[in-house]
Parts: sequence; C-alpha cells; structure tokens
Amino acid sequence: MAETKITKRSEDYSRWYTDVIQAAELADYAPVKGCMIIRPNGFAIWEKMQQALDTMFKETGHQNAYFPLFIPESFLQKEAEHVKGFAPEVAVVTHAGGSKLEEPLVIRPTSETIIWNSYRNWIQSYRDLPLLINQWCNVVRWEMRTRLFLRTAEFLWQEGHTAHATYEDAEEETIRMLGVYRRFAEEFMALPVIEGRKTDKEKFAGADHTYSIEAMMGDAKALQAGTSHHLGQNFAKAFEVTFQSEKGAREYVYATSWGLSTRMIGALIMAHGDDNGIVIPPRLATIQVAIVPIYRKPEERDRVMQAIDNFTMPFKTAGIGFKVDAREQYSPGWKFNDWEKRGVPLRIEVGPKDLEKGQVMLARRDNGQKSPVPQDGLAHTVAQMLDTIQKSLFQRALEFREKHSYSIDNYSKFNEILDGEGGFIWSHWCGSGECEERIKDETKATIRNIPMQAKAEEGKCIKCGSRSERRVIFARAY
Ligand SMILES: [Zn+2]
Repeated sequence: MAETKITKRSEDYSRWYTDVIQAAELADYAPVKGCMIIRPNGFAIWEKMQQALDTMFKETGHQNAYFPLFIPESFLQKEAEHVKGFAPEVAVVTHAGGSKLEEPLVIRPTSETIIWNSYRNWIQSYRDLPLLINQWCNVVRWEMRTRLFLRTAEFLWQEGHTAHATYEDAEEETIRMLGVYRRFAEEFMALPVIEGRKTDKEKFAGADHTYSIEAMMGDAKALQAGTSHHLGQNFAKAFEVTFQSEKGAREYVYATSWGLSTRMIGALIMAHGDDNGIVIPPRLATIQVAIVPIYRKPEERDRVMQAIDNFTMPFKTAGIGFKVDAREQYSPGWKFNDWEKRGVPLRIEVGPKDLEKGQVMLARRDNGQKSPVPQDGLAHTVAQMLDTIQKSLFQRALEFREKHSYSIDNYSKFNEILDGEGGFIWSHWCGSGECEERIKDETKATIRNIPMQAKAEEGKCIKCGSRSERRVIFARAY
C-alpha cells in the first residue's frame, strides 16, 4: 500500500487536510471532476453518523421514505426564490433511452419540490398533520471549486421535510431539529457549536428563515455544520397543498426542511485531526480499540494471542468495537503509526513482559498518553477511557474556540484579527444587507449567524455606526 507523508498542520493547513484524507484512506478523487469516492474508512464514519442521527429522528417522531433522484424541470420553477437559488448549480438530463426527453429532468439538488408535489395528495385534513418525513440520499450541486467532503458536486445527506397546520408548529419543529443537530455535534462529534439564525442574505433559497449550527475548525475558520429551515407556506402555495382545518376552512400547509451531510466528515477531520492523522471521537469510531500484539518467538506469539483472546472476550458484551492486528508482515511500530493515522481512539499494546505483570499498555490517540493497566476488568477500564477521550476532545475543541473568540467594536481591529490568527468575532451589526455585503467584500468574513444565546446589548454597527441591539458572529468560513 502507498504511504502518504502528512504535511504539518501548521505549515500548510489545506495540504495537511488533503494528506490526512489520503493517509487515513477516507476518500479518493473520482473520474468526474468534483465528485468523490468515499472509501471504507470514510464510509464507516458516515454509517456511525447515520445511526446516531436516525435514532434521534425516530425518537422525535419521524419516519424515513425515499423519493426519486430525477425531478421534472418544471417542478423546480414553481417556487421563484428556490429556482433562482439553485439554477446555477443544477445538473440536467436531456437524453435517455437513446432519445431526447420531452421534458428535461433535473438531478435533485434538494427534494422540496418533488416531495411537496406528493404531499398535495397525502394531506387533506388537519388529521393528516403533522407529517414528519426524512430521507437519506445523495444530491448533486454542480460546484466549480470543490474539496473532498467539504464541497463536492455529489454528496450524501439526510433531508427532513415536514408539514404542519400552523406557523408556530412549524417553528417549533425547526427549532427542535436544530437542537437534534446540536446534540449530535456535541455528544457524538465532540464538536461545540453555536445555534443561531441566518441573515436574510444567507438563508436557504425558498425559506422564510433559516437556523444553523456553526462550528470552529482547527484553523479558526467557521464551518456551517447543519441547517434547519422554516419554509412558511412558500412550497404549499407553489404546489397547492391545502388542508381542511378543524373549523372547516381550507388553509395552506406550513413546511420545514433540515439537512446534514457528509461535509461533517470534513468537519471531524478539521476539528480534531493532528500531524499524525485523523482523530475519531470514540462514539463515531467503528474500531474504537486497536490491539497490537508484541512478540519475537512463535512461543511468545501463542501466549500473547491467548491472553488477547481472554481479555477481549468481555469487550463484545460491553459493546466495545475492537480489532486485533495480527498482521505478520508489519512491525509493532509500523502498526502503531498505521492506527494513529486512521484515528482509532485507543490502542492496546501487549507483549510477554506485560503478561508477566498481568497488564497491558493503553495508548490514547487524542493526547498520546500511555499507561499500564491491569488485564483484570479491562473492558470496564477501556469503556471508561473511551468516555474520557470523548469528553476531552469536546473540551479541547471548546477551549480552542473560546481562545479564538473576540468581542470587537473597532473595524480595523476586526480586520487585524481576520488577517492574523482568525476566529469568531462577536460584533454589533445594524441589520442592513448593505453593511453585511460591504464587510464581506472588504474582509471575506460573513455573518455566520445571529446566535440564540446572544444577550440583548445596545451598541453600534461595526461598519456604519447605526444602532444595534445585539452582537452577531463574523468569521471566514468553509
Ligand atoms: Zn450597519
């Protein structure tokens, strides 16, 4: 297998990112520019993400369904804002079965239109509401500048599409699902995020308003990690979806949609990775523990392997994912390195000397610490250690974010920070799209969101000096 040397993170962050993906065998470039091949190590992370999210979606009352990849072109044109937002990046099929199609087919960039076309038939009365559906699928958005996981022409995601009787019900759902994303980011990805509302300029094409969770990456840039949209009655009106209310009146349905994609694998790499490779939080690792036997003679090998068999027996019942690395052709040192670049959270090293002492060596991926622990009760020790690693990854990411967050009231200072170490800049903003646009042109920083946690505070817009009621988060973003 080909060896990839990982560029130092501090030297060239962007090359480091690509090197980590290669070294950990997470993804590959595809024959079609902008597309991505997700390799087994990368897909294993996505499967874990799917399991975690899918469980939470079902706990909050949602069901999965599947809608077609092809959407009649006319559907996309029914919602004016939606088509305007997506038209530049839509891929269209004009020929099939050896002839030109009567109506071109769009490859879904997102599925609001095809789903709401079905909801017209599925929703008749208030008794049919709420309708809570999620779909796991691929979507295509023809991007010119692509980057593995972060921005690719085709990507995998889930898209939730719900229908409600009232504006308030839809708002409640929008916020509920944003909360699910926050929990997922914090508890599974060990990634602290900030919940907030997008500005009108940054909202989803066709939404009444959009909420997002924003995370800080290892280079202090922001990454939008998930979005939840209140669609108002826009799609109901475009697709004539009405219901009979309890009072007998015909009313348009309210909608939400929310999505989270394979982009999160990119976030995982950038938030926790280091010069040795990716670091996978234990709750998203299929292999949580790699076990490397150490021996010289065949007789030692037998004893070590026997001990491994014994102490890993309770791992299965404890739900610990592990792999015994019995590959004969590689040295232990080579194996340590191999599991490190793949981001396996914990490594167990065990040799004849450890057997004499009834112990094994535990090596943590997150901070490199090594410590001997008894073989007795090892499953319990390992489970606890995995929990500790999960928590300390979160803590480390949180401390990093705090260290790179600033409250700034001076525009030249604002620029200085962005051109220096970067970070999240909490500044006052008057609410005008013009100021937002000018700041973006001058500094490449966008308003990530208007944080829900932001306290009301009188101030002056960082750009124009007009009155402002709260701070928003500015940052350069992926
Ligand atoms: Zn202003």
